[in-house]
Amino acid sequence: MSSQNKTGKVYLIGAGPGDPGLVTVRARELIEAADVIVYDYLANPQLLKWARADSEQIYVGKRSGMHSIPQDEIEEILVEHAHKGRQVVRLKGGDPFVFGRGGEEISELQLDKIPFEIVPGVTAALAAAAYAGIPLSHRDFSSSITFLTGHEDPEKQTISIDFKLHAQSKGTLCLYMGLGQLPRILGELKAGGMRGDMPVGAIQWATLNRQRSVYGTVDSIIEDIAAAGISTPAMIIIGEVVAQRTKTEWFEGRPLMGKRIVVTRAREQAGQLTALLESNGAEVIELPFIEVQPDFNQQQLAEILAGIAIYEWIIFTSANGVKSFFDLFYKAFDDIRCLGPMRIAAVGTATAREIKKHNLKVDLIPAKANGDALATAFIENEGVESVQILVITGNQNREALVQRLESEGGAIVDTLPLYKTTKTDLSDHPAAARFREEGADAVLFTSSSTVKSFVDQAEALTLQPDATQPAFGSIGPLTTKTLQELNLPVGFESKQASLDHFVTATTAHLKG
Ligand code: SAH
Repeated sequence: MSSQNKTGKVYLIGAGPGDPGLVTVRARELIEAADVIVYDYLANPQLLKWARADSEQIYVGKRSGMHSIPQDEIEEILVEHAHKGRQVVRLKGGDPFVFGRGGEEISELQLDKIPFEIVPGVTAALAAAAYAGIPLSHRDFSSSITFLTGHEDPEKQTISIDFKLHAQSKGTLCLYMGLGQLPRILGELKAGGMRGDMPVGAIQWATLNRQRSVYGTVDSIIEDIAAAGISTPAMIIIGEVVAQRTKTEWFEGRPLMGKRIVVTRAREQAGQLTALLESNGAEVIELPFIEVQPDFNQQQLAEILAGIAIYEWIIFTSANGVKSFFDLFYKAFDDIRCLGPMRIAAVGTATAREIKKHNLKVDLIPAKANGDALATAFIENEGVESVQILVITGNQNREALVQRLESEGGAIVDTLPLYKTTKTDLSDHPAAARFREEGADAVLFTSSSTVKSFVDQAEALTLQPDATQPAFGSIGPLTTKTLQELNLPVGFESKQASLDHFVTATTAHLKG
């Protein structure tokens, strides 16, 4: 927490090459605690998902068609927030001290006597080499590794590096920001004695699922890069070791690499399918059709929490309900025993899983995951005559459950709605904009309701003429039927209705 009388501090942090899994534990801890996060173009914005909801996030990188914020302004931003007593995280792609102007930022902080900490990051050369399978050093081929920049300062026309000298090193050369000056640099390397058939690799967007690479020689690589359409940011690796790269492409060879896939589940449920697809190499666009927002009556909540001990049963009708309830419960109480000795019911296994995260046992889950089955299970097996029950819900109709418990079972039911589910307006959503522009290789439907929402939002999802036309994938026969009823062509269907099988079917279809 920030306060006026505390000294602020600036944390200069390496955000790594792109994959959020490649930042340090320290980086993550500091992102989680930050008051202010200042990040630039190459720091993956996904890292911000760890930030506090109330943190201030300032983008200082390039914007399309505009220059980045000048360095002195960035330094001013850091100093200003630190003076206000804030914990300021400055996120820079790769490592902050490798061609990242980290030194300049720290000098400024020292001038202003602002405390700082520096957290190293995985620099692009190491990341690109690992993800392309190139050993940067090799006992038989290379005993030195040099990091070079092709570009020192946009205002300076010349580079002070003598590339002719580096041609003599017989080691591995890693060239950052090299694409613009590549013809000149390669010319100088050759003038310095480097062979025209020396192996060269260019790796773009290393460690992300959009990574692409191309290989050639000093003589061919300019054409190879142009033919492959590789552009910035790219790491260029020059040396015998490039030919020693692994035969198996462990990263780019994953089955869904280069495929763009749309996941249509609600934001809160997309995670598992998205993670599966991404680990197979796909780029995922999540189109969140549904949004869940807190929505409750403060006074009703306070009254129910104050009298929580009177209930014999608490029923959760959704995983969202569980999350919302425990967030609010822990704000009110700091001891789980305040929940009392009540018994707990969940509408289905996903809801039960969320409850078990709190080390609480679930006493009742109906065989079928719906409110009606839950009511039947209660009335037939439990006997709820005059029993006080608390039902935690959202804004969707749960009246049937409550009504059956009351009228058929004779229970005394209190309903506590905590959130509401609303349809997202996709016309303004960045993921939808991307889908309209680029299209996708496949759209995956995991239920009939996702098909219906897709059709409902047809206008916001109309593809531009040169966008890739997706194949429509269905998780099973019911979803397929809905696709057919709505006149959408069924590209492929999963053999079994599980996420694993669905990903297998998707891979088979896109590779076939
Ligand atoms: N501080 C950063 C480098 C910043 S200079 C680091 O340590 O990695 C920016 C250059 O880094 C880019 O022009 C490109 O050459 C390289 N780079 C950064 N991220 C990259 C990535 N994911 N893949 C390939 N090259 C990358």
